[in-house]
Amino acid sequence: MAKVEVDKDLCIGCGACASIDDEVFEITDEGYAKAIKDEVNDDVKMAADSCPTSAIKIEEN
Ligand code: SF4
Repeated sequence: MAKVEVDKDLCIGCGACASIDDEVFEITDEGYAKAIKDEVNDDVKMAADSCPTSAIKIEEN
């Protein structure tokens, strides 16, 4: 199954991923993004490509 993860140590909480796909990415109260769904679609891939710190990891099996 595909997996989406945000590396909290790299994330700077800019919100770009959540603005691209708010069904998958959420900005937590702690100020970093979290993947709330393991869904890999084109928006998720675009968010990963757009992340300024490359904090979004996608694993496709
Ligand atoms: S785009 Fe990257 S740095 Fe910005 S909130 Fe999302 S995961 Fe964090």
